[in-house]
Amino acid sequence: MSNVRVRFAPSPTGFFHIGSARTALFNWLYAKHTGGKFILRIEDTDQNRNTDDALDLLLQGMKWLGMDWDEGPNVGGDFGPYFQSQRKAIYDEHLKILEDKGRVYKKDGALWFKLLGERYIKFDPFHKAEIEKVRNEPVFIEDEVRGRVERTEDRDFVIVRSNGEPSFHFVNVVDDITMGITHVIRGEDHLSNTSKHIELYKAFGVDTPIFAHIPLILKESGSGKMSKRDRGALIDEYEKRLFISEAIINYISLLGWSPKDDTDKMSVETIIKRFDFPGINKGSARFDEAKLMALNSDYIKAMPVKRLIELTLPVLKESNLVDADTDLEYLSRVLVLCQEKVKSIETLVDFTNYFFQDNYEFEPKALQRILIGDESNALFSELMLVFEKTELFEALELEASLRTIAEQSNRKIFTYFPLIRMAVSGRMGGPDLLPMLEVMGKERVLTRLQSFAEKF
Ligand code: GLU
Repeated sequence: MSNVRVRFAPSPTGFFHIGSARTALFNWLYAKHTGGKFILRIEDTDQNRNTDDALDLLLQGMKWLGMDWDEGPNVGGDFGPYFQSQRKAIYDEHLKILEDKGRVYKKDGALWFKLLGERYIKFDPFHKAEIEKVRNEPVFIEDEVRGRVERTEDRDFVIVRSNGEPSFHFVNVVDDITMGITHVIRGEDHLSNTSKHIELYKAFGVDTPIFAHIPLILKESGSGKMSKRDRGALIDEYEKRLFISEAIINYISLLGWSPKDDTDKMSVETIIKRFDFPGINKGSARFDEAKLMALNSDYIKAMPVKRLIELTLPVLKESNLVDADTDLEYLSRVLVLCQEKVKSIETLVDFTNYFFQDNYEFEPKALQRILIGDESNALFSELMLVFEKTELFEALELEASLRTIAEQSNRKIFTYFPLIRMAVSGRMGGPDLLPMLEVMGKERVLTRLQSFAEKF
């Protein structure tokens, strides 16, 4: 057992952003990789913004992605409470420690943390005012990703606001200390806070945790940080759109980390095995929807049919394509046939609808193209004849029969394909034709051809 303790410390805002999910994931992966503990701590000190709904959304997103926590909401643990809003006693106690060390003073109603060092007055052009500064020693952040970063804090900062609420810096550090956090893995945007945090650790007289600041995620366009308004930013959207959660995990793991050998598709077990700090990139990551879609379709292709049924049955039912009477054997054959071809479960409904209903629509333009030409009647009669005669309605057998008539009528076998496809599905795209006919079965195919002939 390792002594690694990492945490994901979100402030629930009503959005579970891909950047937060990535931070959660890197912590979770590191805990799994090292055999340590993954702690979920809710930083809900901003009472105006945090609601139960926002928390539910976050917990649901974590659950969907399969990131279980060893300590935190719903599971408890020895270092609780895991909500900052319930830790006031702990903050008071720690404020007292700093006060006893003479490191706290009151100004303008707030409590300030006092840096060590000589004070002097300097004109600050930004605030257009004279401000008090401190001649302070630099701190060195030995960051696992960024290397050694030097920063100097030269201004005291607030630790308890005038409304009595302790500040982010203060509660964040107190919690990391009291929860025994060994590694702080968080977004690079927090690097600028870390020197303040190290000053606090020093004041408490405790060792700093190991820091790893992970790179930003840029928008697809590359211009700026990805925000919640950007397409693809919200985890619950992926869940709603029936993405495969393993594909999302796999994709997010590659946002700022790589196994350095160009592997893309990896099971979560493999990622856990390979994940470590040296694989985290310094440079920003960039969101790439096409790559995400490609991974999603890879996961669909590789999925056992049982899981595919579990995932698709609810949507197929919702779209009234299947019901309790639907033959599960037929359903699973349809899914196996189509799983090669679809990028997402969302598109699978549209992609397969004609398998389950006889009143499918005909793509008007394609239909016209097929019906033009005086050949279609002749082709059609030939087809009916062959299909009726084919006993064993299997792809190979069908191909052989079609070849025979094609030769007799001096045509190429492909001449028949568009017509058949249009008749049995109403469109020009879909899974491979002959296996599709096999799955549909003789009766269904013949009925559809018949009714197509009557209609057009
Ligand atoms: N609540 C902070 C955030 O959401 C946590 C920062 C940290 O991980 O230390 O960014």
